[in-house]
Amino acid sequence: MRLDFSNERVMAVVAHPDDAELLCAGTLARARDDGAATAICVLCQGDRGQPETPIEDLGAVRRREMAAAAKLLGAGLLACGYSDGSLVDSVPTRRELIEVFRKFRPTLVLGHAPNDYHSDHQAAARLTEAATWFCASRGHQTSSSALHHPPALWHMDTIEMIDFEPGFYVEVGDSMRLKLQMLSCHKSQVARGDDFPPLASVLQRQAGARGAQANVEFAEAFRHAPLMKRIRAW
Ligand SMILES: [Zn+2]
Repeated sequence: MRLDFSNERVMAVVAHPDDAELLCAGTLARARDDGAATAICVLCQGDRGQPETPIEDLGAVRRREMAAAAKLLGAGLLACGYSDGSLVDSVPTRRELIEVFRKFRPTLVLGHAPNDYHSDHQAAARLTEAATWFCASRGHQTSSSALHHPPALWHMDTIEMIDFEPGFYVEVGDSMRLKLQMLSCHKSQVARGDDFPPLASVLQRQAGARGAQANVEFAEAFRHAPLMKRIRAW
């Protein structure tokens, strides 16, 4: 059996500019190759992930880096521009994400796991869970019309796989090169210093470990969000 993403519209909602590369870019590449429309919504600027030698106007630098990475994938990019560490589950931010969903009209959303390591990831998870529901609710009005059905929601793996029990795996061997090329676009972050391990090592270690669990070389791990109308039978 092979997952088929054709006719789907797949959007990843991530906290920071390089999270998609680490957690779901291989799956987005598979969706793209199957003919799906793909997009990445990045909620925060990445403006506080400073390397040892601080970079002036890091938010603008990271915006250019994430645009280059999304271009390699051929995915649409939406940057919401929240400052790192400031993301919270609030009504205005829910409304913003609801409108993002109503414009792109995803059939599948890839979102952070609620227990991932960073408070922005945790807030992104709560916002994504809320907005995948309310985007299909006519009573929650924004500029665009409500979706007819809420999109399916998959939780992505946590960074370094901590306390995440995968529900299923997507084989990404064919797109490992692309994942690493996309990651290399994030020059300001690739070797940030001693406060974060080198990102290429994190990516390869995680895809290799998840692949080994599923008896393939490289994989990304996900779990269906166990939420009414966002869980699917395949
Ligand atoms: Zn992050």
